[in-house]
Amino acid sequence: MIINHSSTIEIDRNALANNLKFIRNLIGEKVQLSSVIKGNAYGHGIKQILPELELLGVNHFAVYSSFEAKIAHQYTTKPASKIMVMGDISAKDQEWVIKNKIEFFVFNLKHFKDMLALAKKTESKLYIHLELETGMNRHGLLENQYEEIENLLAQNKKYICLKGICTHFAGAESSANFKRIETQKKRFSSGLNYFIEKGHEPQYKHTSCSAGIIAYPECNHNLVRVGILQYGLWPSQEIELMYNADFKKKNTLKSVLSWRSKIVDVKTVKAGEFVGYGNSFLAETAMKIASVPIGYGYGFSRSLSNTGRVLVNGKRLSVIGTVNMNMFLIEVTNIDVEIGDTVTLIGKDGEQAINVSYFGDLSEQLNYELLTRLDKSIPRQVI
Ligand SMILES: *Cc1c(COP(=O)(O)O)cnc(C)c1O
Repeated sequence: MIINHSSTIEIDRNALANNLKFIRNLIGEKVQLSSVIKGNAYGHGIKQILPELELLGVNHFAVYSSFEAKIAHQYTTKPASKIMVMGDISAKDQEWVIKNKIEFFVFNLKHFKDMLALAKKTESKLYIHLELETGMNRHGLLENQYEEIENLLAQNKKYICLKGICTHFAGAESSANFKRIETQKKRFSSGLNYFIEKGHEPQYKHTSCSAGIIAYPECNHNLVRVGILQYGLWPSQEIELMYNADFKKKNTLKSVLSWRSKIVDVKTVKAGEFVGYGNSFLAETAMKIASVPIGYGYGFSRSLSNTGRVLVNGKRLSVIGTVNMNMFLIEVTNIDVEIGDTVTLIGKDGEQAINVSYFGDLSEQLNYELLTRLDKSIPRQVI
C-alpha cells in the first residue's frame, strides 16, 4: 500500500490500452484522435496518463485551459505531441502559448486580435482552430463575425496556421437532443463551407466527443476529441445501450481507475447506540465497525452516508452513518478484518467490483463529476 496518504489511485495500463483499441476500432485509421485530458485527465492525473497515452501512440492532446496545457507540456515525453487548448488562455499565458506552438480554439474576436498582435510582435505563428457557434451557445464564433475573421486570416497568412475548424454538440449522449444536433450539423457545414470557399481549408474538421463517435459516426470528419471512453466509462447509459445494439461487437471498455484505502480502526458498538455524527445510524444490535480514513474532502461524497458500499477482503460492506470530511465507518460484524486491510472504494476485489457508474449513481453524480472531484493530492500509481 502507498506511503504518505490515506488512499491511493491505481491506473491500469492494460485497461487504457484496451480502451484505445476500442476507440481506434470505432473511428478507423484515417481519423486523428485528440485525447481529451482536461480536468486532470478526468481525475486520473495528467502526469500519469499522458506518458502512457504517448506509449500507445497518441500524439494529440486536448485540455481546457492554458493552465492545464502547461501541465501537459511538462509531462509530454515526445516532441511530436501536440497540445490543444479548447478554452481559457489567461493573458499571462499568451506568450507561452505562442512560443510553445500550443494549438488553441478561437472563439472570441478580441482575444484573437490580441494573440495576433503578439504573434506579429514576436514574429511567430498561431496554430488555431476556429470554433464555430452552431447552437450550443457556450462559446464559439457567431455567423456575423465570419467575415471579419476571414479578413484577418487572409491578411495574416504569415502568422496563422489554420489547424482546424470545429464545433461542439450540445449533448450527443442523449437522443433527446437529436433535433438540436441536426441543426448544429447543418450550421457547421455551412460555416465550414464559407471558410473553404474563401480559400481557408483547415487541416482538421472536428465536432465529435465520445458520445459523438458512437451516436453520430458520420460527423467524425478527420479528427475526434475523445475523453471519457479512454478511461473506460460510457458518456451515458443510453450510449452504452446504443453501442451494444448497433455495433454487436464483443470488445468493450475496461475501467482504468481504482481507488483504495485501508482500515485504520476496528471496534464494537453496543445495541442501542448511535454511530457517528447525529442520529442517522442506530446500532439495533451489537455490532462491529471499522473506520476508513477517507471522506468528502477527498471526493467520497457525503451523499454516500448510510448508502455507500465498499469492498474488503472480497466482501461488499455498507457505509454506516454520515460520511465525514476525512473518514467514514463501515459495518464489519461477523467479518474477519484487521487494521491495515485494504478497502476498495472503486475497483475490483476478488469476485466483487464497484464501478464508477455504480458509485456515481449512488451519489447522484455523473461519471465526469465524480472523477474530477477525486482529490489531486491522492497519489496516482500506474500498474
Ligand atoms: C470535454 C470535451 C470533449 C470530450 O468529451 P467526452 O464526452 O469526455 O468525450 C470534447 N470536446 C470538447 C469541446 C469538450 O469540452
